[in-house]
Amino acid sequence: MVYQRHIPARELLSAQLELLLQHSRVATVGANLLGLLAMVLLFWQFLPVAALLAWAVGVLALVVLRAGYNQRALQFGEYHQRPGRVYALLLLGALATGLAWSTAFIVAASFAPPALLYIFLLCILLVNLVAMGMTMALREYFLVQLYAALLPIGWWCLLHYWEAPWHLLIGLFTLGLCGLLLFASDRVYLAVRGMISATWERATMAQELSDLSDSLRDRNRQLAEARKQLVDLANVDELTGLGNRRLVNRVLQEEINRARRNGGHLAVVMLDVDYFKPYNDTYGHDAGDKVLQQLAEIMRSTVARAGELAGRYGGEEFILVLPGADAAAARRTAERLRERIDHTRIPHGASPVAPCITVSQGVASVKPTNATTPQNLVKAADLALYRAKARGRDCVEVATS
Ligand code: GH3
Ligand code: MG
Ligand code: MG
Repeated sequence: MVYQRHIPARELLSAQLELLLQHSRVATVGANLLGLLAMVLLFWQFLPVAALLAWAVGVLALVVLRAGYNQRALQFGEYHQRPGRVYALLLLGALATGLAWSTAFIVAASFAPPALLYIFLLCILLVNLVAMGMTMALREYFLVQLYAALLPIGWWCLLHYWEAPWHLLIGLFTLGLCGLLLFASDRVYLAVRGMISATWERATMAQELSDLSDSLRDRNRQLAEARKQLVDLANVDELTGLGNRRLVNRVLQEEINRARRNGGHLAVVMLDVDYFKPYNDTYGHDAGDKVLQQLAEIMRSTVARAGELAGRYGGEEFILVLPGADAAAARRTAERLRERIDHTRIPHGASPVAPCITVSQGVASVKPTNATTPQNLVKAADLALYRAKARGRDCVEVATS
């Protein structure tokens, strides 16, 4: 995933709009209503009452309309979905309000004495400055309303400088103020933009970090799975699913160590299928594989106790590891296994021993000492197995020493 390091223009605009909509409503409505009240009180005696009231109602309607739209844009997240449209409508509202104030001033100038006019100009200034606050988040919004209100007044005063001694000065002052506020609004806007970008970058980085840690978690899981597969490949016999020779030797070494510490018994049983070569020759190698799988299944279910293990030691030779079993217990397990295999009655027409598959087993059980190794334990069981074969097969022999 590629992350953008700087806030995109659209995101910046909608964040500015959100700030503006959240914080400017009360100030804007309040300031305009106070201005309205001042206007009516100041010019009550000088302007035709009907015109004055009509103007007041118009401005009131405009203010209410703007406040309503602000509320809606904020509530339904319109500033986020269509920031361009919200931006345009907000500017339009600011322009209309500004023009309402400047028009009122210019119209009133024909009726009212200059002193009252100047007081009114002060009110207009206050309305704009009080409403300033967070409207600076969107510089253009602030400037449009301010300029629409003040620039026409400033020019009018300059153009009518002969009508009253203070007009020239007031005109210059108003235009100068416009320039000053342009500069101030720029500074505030830059600060607000910096704040918005920093917040956005922090959020983006947090998202980036969380995505990264998700993908690391995924990687770790894949690695763990791959590792488990590797371990299985190294330790599990493919045909039967039993542990292979490597695993058997490792487990044997561990069990020897454990039994030596505990002073307990450890037994192994070597198992070899009788006349398996003739079986393959008669029924085919694939059928032979199936027999090995069947036998493996029987062994697996025979050594069900904790710590016990059945493994494939070579071609058709298997081994059981029985921790804690003395010779008698191990012989009982081997006999039980032999009987279960006999009862399965897998047909074997080429066996001189029986009409079905049989196995021979050699048992060795020891109390391990420092001299005990996996190799000599297996060797002892193998010798017993050899004697079982010599005795006629399909039987269990126990190592003597
Ligand atoms: P016995 O053990 O009773 O003396 O006679 P045997 O015929 O079983 O003799 P031996 O143990 O020497 O023969 C092992 C045979 O096992 C040889 C080989 O064809 C077969 N064998 C070994 N591994 C596999 C295997 O993975 N699949 C199959 N189908 N056969 C195997
Ligand atoms: Mg063999
Ligand atoms: Mg054999």
